[in-house]
Amino acid sequence: DWRHDAHVLEEHLQHAYVLGCKVLGQGHVATYIPELARADAYAFGLAAQRTDGTMVCCGDVDTRFSVQSVGKVMSLAMALKIFGTEEVFSHVLMEPSGDSFSSIIKLDTKSDLPFNPLINAGAIQVVSLLANHVEFSDILKFARRMCQDEDIELNEPVYRSEALTGDRNRAIAYLLKSKGVLMAEPDLTLDLYFKLCSMNVTAKSLATLGLVLANDGQNPMTGEHIISPRHARAINSIMFTCGMYDGSGEFGVKVGIPAKSGVGGGIACSVKGRMGIGVYGPALDEKGNSVGGLASLEYLSHALHLHVFDYH
Ligand code: GLN
Repeated sequence: DWRHDAHVLEEHLQHAYVLGCKVLGQGHVATYIPELARADAYAFGLAAQRTDGTMVCCGDVDTRFSVQSVGKVMSLAMALKIFGTEEVFSHVLMEPSGDSFSSIIKLDTKSDLPFNPLINAGAIQVVSLLANHVEFSDILKFARRMCQDEDIELNEPVYRSEALTGDRNRAIAYLLKSKGVLMAEPDLTLDLYFKLCSMNVTAKSLATLGLVLANDGQNPMTGEHIISPRHARAINSIMFTCGMYDGSGEFGVKVGIPAKSGVGGGIACSVKGRMGIGVYGPALDEKGNSVGGLASLEYLSHALHLHVFDYH
């Protein structure tokens, strides 16, 4: 049965890897955060972890890179755990924005609250909620648990680079403050947000993150309940509609898996009840999504019937 055979997964993952490698030349590494410009545009890795714990890998799956916007899943999970669904969504909406990830325009014209927790404005808002209750060391600990990866650390050069050039994020935080919705001081919030983005992960860590979300918030290897099934469901839903920024709609049609990307080249995917998939591919399209990742995931979704609306 293709659902249970790790060899079938391995074969398809290898093919997906080859397809992903072929398109890397079409992408560009992010340069707006100078430290990210140092990434190798031809680096690429895929890791898939099944609910029985088997991890299947191809390419650069042990390379450390900054989690960037995939960290927004972790801040959301942590906030849901501490404050509950109702409280969190009284501070941030759950609607796709249709705008690029760092857009500020609708915040001033459409709504006082950020559109969703997986774009910069919404993540900054969620982090402001966390900022009065937790320190960065708590976020780091939580990230290590979610990814079952004790080696996640702060990438200091990325953090400094991010803080130095984060004027757009500063603008967002101060605008939210001016509207009276930000829940902590902007500078404290931003410092925590920059650190959240600068945690070093691997494709494997993101596969485990995806697996936990695919398994109702429980790590199937350790049995540990990291977040509640309800919260996992909420996060998967928002990943599906908002996780790939303004490319989420097209990704939903072509791939159809709850996923979250980051400009470091990472993508974490949650395939309900079956597996988590982690991608590392810093060559990005104009929306900030890994080009290799998109090509590979489209193939994998098709080959293994991973689309949430597939008939089985
Ligand atoms: N740290 C990045 C920023 O705030 C995260 C954005 C991203 O990954 N899309 O701009």
